[in-house]
Amino acid sequence: MAEVLDITVEEQKAIDHAYEDMIASLRTSYSQEDRDQMNRAFRLANYSHRHQRRKSKEPYIFHPIAVAKICAEEIGLGPTAICAALLHDVVEDTPVTIEELQDQFGDRIAQMVGGLTKLDSAYQSESKQAENFKKVLSTLIVDVRIVLIKMADRLHNMRTIKSMPEHKQLKIAAETSYIYAPLAHRLGLYNFRSEFLDLCMKVLERDEYNAVARKLQETKAAREKYIESFISPLRSKLDSLGYNYRIFGRPKSIYSIANKIKKKQVPFEQIYDLFAVRVILDVPREKEKLAAWAIYSTITDTYQAVPSRLKDWITIPKSNGYESLHTTVVGPGARFVEVQIRSERMNEIAERGFAAHWKYKGVSNQRDVYEQWFESVRDILENPNSDTVQFLGDFRANSFFNEEVYVYTPDGDMKALPKGSTALDFAFSVHSMVGYHCQSILCDERIVPMSYVLRNGDRLKVNTNPQQKPNPNWLDMVKTGKAKAKIRQSLKEEKRQQGELAKEALHRKLKKLHVEDEKAAVETLARHWTEGSHVDLFYDLGREALSIAQILKPFEVDHGKLAIALPAPAAQEKEPDSKNRRNGANRLKGTTKLLINGEPGDQLEYTMASCCNPVQGDQVFAYLTSNAGLKIHRVICPNAENLMANYDYRIMKAEWVSTTDHSFVAELELTGLDSGKGVIETISHEITQMDLDIRSFNIAAESGHFTAKISLLVRNTDQLRLASRALQNLDNVSTVSRVE
Ligand code: MN
Repeated sequence: MAEVLDITVEEQKAIDHAYEDMIASLRTSYSQEDRDQMNRAFRLANYSHRHQRRKSKEPYIFHPIAVAKICAEEIGLGPTAICAALLHDVVEDTPVTIEELQDQFGDRIAQMVGGLTKLDSAYQSESKQAENFKKVLSTLIVDVRIVLIKMADRLHNMRTIKSMPEHKQLKIAAETSYIYAPLAHRLGLYNFRSEFLDLCMKVLERDEYNAVARKLQETKAAREKYIESFISPLRSKLDSLGYNYRIFGRPKSIYSIANKIKKKQVPFEQIYDLFAVRVILDVPREKEKLAAWAIYSTITDTYQAVPSRLKDWITIPKSNGYESLHTTVVGPGARFVEVQIRSERMNEIAERGFAAHWKYKGVSNQRDVYEQWFESVRDILENPNSDTVQFLGDFRANSFFNEEVYVYTPDGDMKALPKGSTALDFAFSVHSMVGYHCQSILCDERIVPMSYVLRNGDRLKVNTNPQQKPNPNWLDMVKTGKAKAKIRQSLKEEKRQQGELAKEALHRKLKKLHVEDEKAAVETLARHWTEGSHVDLFYDLGREALSIAQILKPFEVDHGKLAIALPAPAAQEKEPDSKNRRNGANRLKGTTKLLINGEPGDQLEYTMASCCNPVQGDQVFAYLTSNAGLKIHRVICPNAENLMANYDYRIMKAEWVSTTDHSFVAELELTGLDSGKGVIETISHEITQMDLDIRSFNIAAESGHFTAKISLLVRNTDQLRLASRALQNLDNVSTVSRVE
C-alpha cells in the first residue's frame, strides 16, 4: 500500500469508469446538488489516495469506489452515505483531516467519516476485539449508516482477502465471523451474513468449503431439473389467482449446507435441503397477507404440507424486521422442499435489512423494531461497569437468536424476547426498576419461579417490593444481555457501598505512610490483589477477606511511591532463550515438523493443544499462551474463534513441514449396531492391521447400539482419513467422525 507509483492514464480511465458504474447503481433518486457533492468526494478521495496501492497492486481508490458501490447497490444507501463511503479511508491513510471534510462536506459526512476512522484505528490497535466491538456499536447509535458502510468495507475486504498473507486472512476471517456476521444478522442484512460466513469458511475451512462447492456445481443440472418439475404443475394454478408473482428455486449457502453435513453426520448426497423455492408477490401492502395465504393454500393443494414446519413471520415479524411465510411440503419423489412466500417489500427488507426498513418506515404501523434494539444497545453501552468481554458474550448470545418467544403483559401488550428468556428477563424488559424489585411473578395467574422459561402466549404479571434487590444467583436466572448488565450493575453498586469504609481506612493508612500519589498506589494494589478492580479491592477489605496490613506487605514506600519490595518474579512470558530451550520438558522431540512465522518450529517451545489435537495436514495456527509457551491449535478448534478475535496479537502463523516421523493423537467417534459379536475385537483388529497404535478405547453399548471413542496415533490427515474410511466399511459400523 505504501508504494509510490503514479497512476497511469489507462488506470485513471478504469477508475473513472468504476466511479460512473457506481453512480449508475444508485437505487435512490438524487438531485444535481447531490451529484456534484458525490463528484467532489470522488475527486478528493482519488487525489488523496493517488500514491497508494492495494496488496493486489491496483490503485487504492478502487477500494473506496467498490465500498460505495456495495452501499448503493446491495444496501440501498443514498448520496450522503455514498460520499462518506468514498471518503472512508482518507483521514486514516492520507493527510486530509476531519476539519477539512467538515469545511467541504458539512458536519454529517465529516461525522460519518470520523466514526469510520475510529473503527479502523480500533482495528489496527492491539486492543481486544471486544473493545473494538463496543466501538462499532457506539457508532451505530450515532448514525446507523456508519455501521452499514463499515459492513460494506468489511465485505469488500473479505471478497478480496486472497491477496493478504495467510495469518492475516485468519485474523480478519475470525473477526468477521465473530463480530460482523452476527451484527449483519441483527441488522437484517441476511445476504451479508451468508456471504460473510461463506467467505470466512473459505479461509478457515478451505477443504470442506471446496468439497461442498464442487459437489454443488456437479449436481447443479439435476437440481435445476428437479426445481422445474416442482414448479411447473403449480404455474397455471398460481396464474389463476391473478397476482403478479415470481417463483424460482434458490440454492442455500455453502456455509449452511456444510453445517448441516456436520450436524447430521451424513454425506452431501443425503442433504435434500440444498435449495428453497421462493414465491415473491407484487401486490399492494394491504393485500400482502391475504395473497400470501392464497399462495400457501394453492401450493399445499398440490403438495402435501409438513405441518410442524409452518412459520408465519407475516402475522408476527421477527424482531429484526424479517417478514415471510415459510412452509415445507412433500415434493415429487417424496423429497421435502422448503417454500418461502413473501411480497416484494418483504423481500427487499430481507435482503437489504435496515436501509429498506427505513424506506417503508412511514408506511408501517408496526412497532419500530430497530428503535427497540438500538435502545437495548444503548442500555448496555451506557452501563459504566460492563466488562467488555462479558459484554460481547451477552451481545452475541442475544443477537444469535433466530427465534423469539412472544408473551403478554397484564394489559395485553405483546413483548418479544429471545427464545430461552425467563420470567425474570421479562421483569427487566418491562423496566429495570421492575426487575430490581421483582418479588414474585405470576404466569397465567399462577406463581412461577423467576427462572421459569417463557413460552409463547404466556401472560405475565410481576409483583414488586421496594425492599427486594438483586443477588448474585439472579445472574443464572436470566438470559438477556439487558437483564444481566442491570443485575451486574446493581451488584457492583452494592459492593461499592460495602467497600466505602474500607476505602476510607486505606486512605488514612496510605497518608500515614507518606504515599504522595494515592491514586497510583491504589492502582498498584488493585492490580496486585484483585486483577485491577478497585471495587473488589475495597469490598474484600470491607468484608475482611483481605486486611490492609496484608495487602501492603509485599510493598515498600520509596520516595512517596508504592513499589514492590521483593524483586519481581521473573517474567514468564519472556521468549525462551537458547539455554532453557535445550531442556524444555514438554517440547516435542524429533525433527522440525512445523514452521512458525516462517521459522523452524523446534527453535521455539510448542505443544499441541489438547482441545483439538491437531494432526499433520490440518490447518493450524500458533497461539502464545501466557505461561505454557506456544500452543498449536486447529483453525476450526472451538476455542480458535475466540482466541483469534480477542488475542489476535498473540497469534502466529503455523504450517506443517511435509516430512515428519512424529505421530499425533486424533480422536474418532464410532457409532453402530452392537450385534454382540465382539465389536471391540473387530475394530481394534482393523486398526492394528493398518499399523496404527491405539492410545485409548472407550465403548458404551445400549439397547443394541454402541458408541465408541478411540484415540489413535497417526502421522497425518491422510492416514487418519484412510483409517476412518476402513472403519466405516466394517459391518455394523454406521458412522465414523473425528472429534473436533
Ligand atoms: Mn476501507
